[in-house]
Amino acid sequence: MGARPFYPSVTEASRYRPEQIERRWQQAWAEQGLDHTPVETDGTSFYALSMFPYPSGNLHMGHVRNYVITDVIARTARMRGHRVLHPMGWDAFGLPAENAAIERGVEPGDWTDRNIASMREQLRQLGLSIDWDREVTTCHSDYYRWTQWLFLQFLEAGLAYRREATVNWDPVDQTVLANEQVDGEGRSWRSGALVEKRQLRQWFLKITAYADQLLDDLPKLEGWPERVRTMQANWIGRSSGAELDFAVVDGEGQPSGEAITVFTTRPDTIFGVSYVVLAPEHPLVARLTTPDQAIAVEAFCDLVSRQSDQERTAEDGPKRGVPIGARVRNPANGELVPLWIADYVLAEYGTGAVMGVPAHDQRDFLFARRHELPVRQVIIPEGSDEHAFEGGAWTEPGVLIHSGRFDGLASPSAKAAITAAAESEGWGRGKVQYRLRDWLISRQRYWGCPIPVIHCASCGVVPVPAEQLPVELPRQVAFSGKGASPLAQLEDWVNVACPCCGQPARRETDTMDTFMCSSWYYLRYSDPHNTALPFERSKVDRWLPVDQYVGGIEHAILHLLYSRFFTKVLRDRGLLGFDEPFTRLLTQGMVQGITYKNPHSGKYIAPADVADPTDPRDPNSGEVLEVFFEKMSKSKYNGVDPTAVIDRYGADTARMFILFKAPPEKDLEWDDADVEGQFRFLQRIWRLVEGALARGLSLADGPAMAVQEGLDGRASGSSLPGAPELLRFSTPEECSPAERELRRAVHTAITAISDDLDGDYQFNTAVSELMKLSNAMGEHLEAAGLPVAAEALASLLILLAPFAPHLAEELWQKLGGNGSVHLQRWPVADPAALVRDTIPLVIQIKGKVRGNLEVPADADKATLEKLALESEVALRWLEGKAPSRVIVVPGKLVNLVP
Ligand SMILES: [Zn+2]
Repeated sequence: MGARPFYPSVTEASRYRPEQIERRWQQAWAEQGLDHTPVETDGTSFYALSMFPYPSGNLHMGHVRNYVITDVIARTARMRGHRVLHPMGWDAFGLPAENAAIERGVEPGDWTDRNIASMREQLRQLGLSIDWDREVTTCHSDYYRWTQWLFLQFLEAGLAYRREATVNWDPVDQTVLANEQVDGEGRSWRSGALVEKRQLRQWFLKITAYADQLLDDLPKLEGWPERVRTMQANWIGRSSGAELDFAVVDGEGQPSGEAITVFTTRPDTIFGVSYVVLAPEHPLVARLTTPDQAIAVEAFCDLVSRQSDQERTAEDGPKRGVPIGARVRNPANGELVPLWIADYVLAEYGTGAVMGVPAHDQRDFLFARRHELPVRQVIIPEGSDEHAFEGGAWTEPGVLIHSGRFDGLASPSAKAAITAAAESEGWGRGKVQYRLRDWLISRQRYWGCPIPVIHCASCGVVPVPAEQLPVELPRQVAFSGKGASPLAQLEDWVNVACPCCGQPARRETDTMDTFMCSSWYYLRYSDPHNTALPFERSKVDRWLPVDQYVGGIEHAILHLLYSRFFTKVLRDRGLLGFDEPFTRLLTQGMVQGITYKNPHSGKYIAPADVADPTDPRDPNSGEVLEVFFEKMSKSKYNGVDPTAVIDRYGADTARMFILFKAPPEKDLEWDDADVEGQFRFLQRIWRLVEGALARGLSLADGPAMAVQEGLDGRASGSSLPGAPELLRFSTPEECSPAERELRRAVHTAITAISDDLDGDYQFNTAVSELMKLSNAMGEHLEAAGLPVAAEALASLLILLAPFAPHLAEELWQKLGGNGSVHLQRWPVADPAALVRDTIPLVIQIKGKVRGNLEVPADADKATLEKLALESEVALRWLEGKAPSRVIVVPGKLVNLVP
């Protein structure tokens, strides 16, 4: 209490200079092999994984946040006695490299390798505990060889097949475009031509065969955010309903022999059907269109072919359509209704045909209103006889009316009864339907993993024999951005002998969707140098499932779903022995930068161009700017370059700020003042240790500590000690009040930070606890004896090590610590140290607070009264007279009434 802060003045010699220590420790750790993955033999494995980056060449703050979070988790696990796998790699195929080739003539492989080298260097500056010996790069043939091998596993299992599917076609450049190469107006990014749809034979993976498992296993993923599980469930979209057949009739109303099959989740509404709709691409459209509607139908199909699926199914879209002239018979009531085509029905979903029930489906209601089709209510809310409905459809279940023999049934029993009637009378059947489609993996691009098959005129599709893998991607090819994919233009590469019959044959020229490469990379890290298999089963089973996966919410569906699919297929092929790849998932929030926008022109203004941030104005027009936080992006000039921050403050400060500013799953607003604050905090710790050194303190003065086995032991292959063992300090016999205060602060911090690092990873509160501990040390360290002071310093540095690894190591070494701070055991709190032995007692005189008194925490009422009466406060205010009344509230206050 009242002691002066224990910070010596800052001199040149003692100033915290991260630039002088961070690089040095990064090199030392690399030389020592500190982050090398130990051999795991006894079930203490911990696999910490960040979603690997696309090597664009520039690390951004979103990456930094992702990798720092994973790093703290990995480092903490290691200190808690786990053998940790914490790898990194590169999701290195993809369009940007090919675009760079087309636009600037750079070879995609060279461009990618250069970007990887520069990003690897930027990652090293962050001091991440990554085992770089396990790095994987998906565009290198030692990796994609196994992507091809795995594709052949899918092919052999009957889970890879070819069929016609739509692609974006640029009619000027005569080339297929990726969705990202088509702008918002449906034009080619390069030629500006209106993009057309074309049908091409392409490769699919049959993920729908695993739809039920992918859905049914979601509840097992208790360590995943609920939101991600819900998104996956919706994406899979299992719904139960019925397929119902509507017979097509001729001009006289007689059956023509054709039937339209619709899928519906609401067979109970079949008596409300007023039209049936086909997707414009439905194979029956051409045959059933009557001559008088032919021109309108053709024009409409042309219009729809220019729309994306998203535009067509947008909720607020216009719901356009035309009748094709034919009619169908409602199998339930025999009524004839018109057949339409409409943009909102997609050929690939369900049967490509739906029944239109405007009274009970909002989309059908809007369509019917636009096209003046009848609306007939056949379901009413239970307990009501209201028929009217305004503004929209009644989409809830209810009771049937105008439904013949089914009148009066409630929706659930009506669904069953109508489906049963359809089955027995031959006009329908029960059906489970999924929103999930098979996965189109073909890309007509160059910079991807070649699909390892050969097309032979006599043998058909022939897999490339496994011993001939990899099918190498030819390098140094010409790019024009026009015509067929660059691979298809390489005659020498395309023309090969058929592996079966030896006759001339042609290689597949499609490459794989890059999601194929990222669907199994986490398996390869367990055995990255295997040249005989993608991974050995014993190794993959030992390290996986991944204990903690960390990445962006934007991967909530595709990447995570495809990875789960791969895992289940490979399990069924006997290649691995678990059902799910990722036990726990953390989706980190975005990093947002301060953003200035002119509300009139809509233009973004760079913060550097805003002269006065307290009155932000457009530098050109003087107009007042809007100020808000938004995801960092180049186009909004609101990005913060990680390298610049590290150059100025060091990696440790950048890490501390990112961890402190927001809980990991929440968005984080970048704030220079808070970065500065973290830098000052680290400086304070530096000065604390400088002060201790000036006293001649060494960690050798502290209580005995358990240190993990040295690095030499590991290098020679001997195993680490068995079960996780934690660092436990013994309680000193005699402690002064200051020492007791200090120990209580230390052990409170150990308890709180250990809690924060369990489960939900509340790094922000953990950093706050470190700050509280350093404040308590500033107050009590000087008055504490060497053993207690050494215990406090050792604890502070060990607790700090996962967050600010360079500073913690530097100070640990300065204090003569044994081995690396990162190999110390995580401390456990001493319960005895947490007990408060005195408490502050409030002294009141006539109900007014007049002072405080430190009293034993276990003092009884009589003792408290005695102590209060003897206090200086009582002497001053009662002037020696006995009080008329004394009120004692144990643990809180004594009120003396004169
Ligand atoms: Zn052949």
